Amino acid sequence: MKVLVINAGSSSLKYQLIDMENESVIAKGLCERIGIEGSQLTHKVPGKEDWVQVNPMPTHETAINMVLSALVDKEHGVIADIKEIDAVGHRVVHGGSKCAESIKIDEEAKAIIKECFDLAPLHNPANLMGIEACEACMPGVPNVAVFDTSFGMGMEPAAYRYAIPEEYYDKYQIRRYGFHGTSHNFVSHETMAFAELPEDKRRIVVCHLGNGSSISASINGKCVDTSMGLTPLEGLLMGTRSGDIDPAVLQFIMNHDNISIDEMLNILNKKSGALALSGNLSSDFRDLSDAEAKGDEKAKLALDAFKHRVTKYIGAYIAAMGGVDAIAFTAGIGENDKDMRAEIMGHFAYLGIKIDPEKNSIRGKNVEISTEDSAVRVFVIPTNEELAIARETVRLA
Ligand code: AMP
Repeated sequence: MKVLVINAGSSSLKYQLIDMENESVIAKGLCERIGIEGSQLTHKVPGKEDWVQVNPMPTHETAINMVLSALVDKEHGVIADIKEIDAVGHRVVHGGSKCAESIKIDEEAKAIIKECFDLAPLHNPANLMGIEACEACMPGVPNVAVFDTSFGMGMEPAAYRYAIPEEYYDKYQIRRYGFHGTSHNFVSHETMAFAELPEDKRRIVVCHLGNGSSISASINGKCVDTSMGLTPLEGLLMGTRSGDIDPAVLQFIMNHDNISIDEMLNILNKKSGALALSGNLSSDFRDLSDAEAKGDEKAKLALDAFKHRVTKYIGAYIAAMGGVDAIAFTAGIGENDKDMRAEIMGHFAYLGIKIDPEKNSIRGKNVEISTEDSAVRVFVIPTNEELAIARETVRLA
């Protein structure tokens, strides 16, 4: 069975064609500048040179058509006929309170995704465009939506409710949903399997540390808490997001600088976080590490603040679960930055956590980085959201 995985943004569209017989990626690529001048498709086939096509893509439908043409192209293609694609899995950011699970697309499912436009105005409309484009270009092929918020739906009210008047929950379903759910779900399950954790010892903290970052606590695959909230702005400080902040700060700045709430949220989402603390040096953690090594104090502050917040959340989640059986690091920073992992875990030496420097240097695969006598087992588990989406698609399609 071959599954096409689509991650549609407002002006971009990422795809992967996965052969589910052996869960291998047959081809993948990216459409950029959809609806803008200078659209291009970059098509990648393992072992071959990238194929870049500059072609107008006024709509998501034209983008999907270009992807399908690339997949069956005589020279650069990987399948003989589009009919070889058995199903399409779509990343959808927000499923609201109605979608605790992935769903097969029908009119009702599309209505639910539309209902959540308010909750994810930048993402859900684009995700739906991707779905409708596939329906138009591949009639009869089943589409499945996999939601970033599904994993967080496992939380209990004590974790997901905001302590604000009930009417806002009743009227608007204002609650904590959490994001990166596909990654947290994948990595927590992968950790259980890789570590062969017995059923009564599956209290796991997953640290998804990338450009966007979040932490989750789960027991036996069920989410106990996760750091992002109604939107991805809550929780850790990130590349450009502030994470947790006293809302009175917003009022203060808005009143003094006479700016609107939309401008304020744009600042908190796009101009804050590590970028802001580093004095606008960079939101990229490699740049920050390089600058810190050269003595840049602001880059050091950004990195220290990030580690501090991650440490705080891990500690809180261990307490919330009454202990922890495994801690897993994933995503760009979590998978690649061994110093970051060692420093964060260093704060838990009092719990008896010990990291093996040699194992901590291994990259690119599942690895247990704690010592044999560590009180808690610590892992690096590369995330694979596309594969997780493809597996869900097979399950439902
Ligand atoms: P992601 O959003 O998961 O793609 O992660 C992107 C982030 O990972 C960026 O801030 C990168 O700088 C960071 N990253 C990737 N590789 C490394 C590395 N070797 N060391 C430190 N940070 C890295």
